[in-house]
Amino acid sequence: MNKGDWFIEEFQGQAGALSFKVDEVLFEGESPYQKVKIVKNSFFGNVMLLDDLVMVTDKDEFFYHDMLVHVPMVCVDNPENVLIIGGGDGGSVREVLKHQGVKRVVLCEIDKMVIDVARKYFPDLSNCLDDKRVEVMVADGIKYIKEHKNEFDCICVDSTDPIGPAVGLFTPEFYGYVKDALRVGGVMSAQTESPSWTLERVVGIRKNIEAAFGNAYLYLCPIPCYPSGLWSFALGMKSDKDPVKDFNIERSQIVAKQCKYYNPEIHKAAFCLPNFIRDALK
Ligand code: SAM
Repeated sequence: MNKGDWFIEEFQGQAGALSFKVDEVLFEGESPYQKVKIVKNSFFGNVMLLDDLVMVTDKDEFFYHDMLVHVPMVCVDNPENVLIIGGGDGGSVREVLKHQGVKRVVLCEIDKMVIDVARKYFPDLSNCLDDKRVEVMVADGIKYIKEHKNEFDCICVDSTDPIGPAVGLFTPEFYGYVKDALRVGGVMSAQTESPSWTLERVVGIRKNIEAAFGNAYLYLCPIPCYPSGLWSFALGMKSDKDPVKDFNIERSQIVAKQCKYYNPEIHKAAFCLPNFIRDALK
């Protein structure tokens, strides 16, 4: 919804909203999957909107991409093969390539229009897609994952919210296929929505991950441009490792030198949950 030259992202049934001034509309289109819009804002820079929901901004994309990628990657011994489901802007792929030893990153994004606009309006995120270790697939992650067993060391589910083509990326069945696609010792991370605005949704997603993996580790990160500013992620681990006690501190310190948000202390602190979330997860 817009009001004059202000963009308004409503949530909680119009009870609340996130809003910012639109200085310029850079792109507006409709793919077979969603409305795609790129707008310019003097504070956030370029902003990608999918079905009028904020997806990524120049200003604060690193919070999300750092935490979706580096937390699982340092919980895996020697990750070489990585899969990103969704993530058509390229930010998650860029972060994966910061890990020495990565040989192959597959990006499985359903909507080619997202990749095309990211290449034009978010070069800092999408330039990495031309790296020779990257394979870009325009495909449905729900289908792709069923065709790849025991292939990946780390899988990051970098999806839109559980609506439209992404609904199937939050089910126990899907997480079961993700587990099958991981090698033993592999780790999945997924964005799991806002624990302050939609706690019941977060609890449900975590339950689905636990049903598939036998474990699910929720962790938090502030994301200024998302509703409420507080976001959650979760790990599913195909091992009996603990993501806080057993992560590779050396690799964490090395990659942290290239990050604006992630570091070993943030890694550990992210898994500390406030009482209202702990109680809801019981
Ligand atoms: N990485 C961004 C961020 O900072 O939050 C936002 C996420 S990214 C833009 C979400 C992507 O998931 C979208 O490009 C959308 O097209 C893609 N997607 C949704 N459902 C999908 C599916 N079933 N398979 C593959 N990609 C999907």
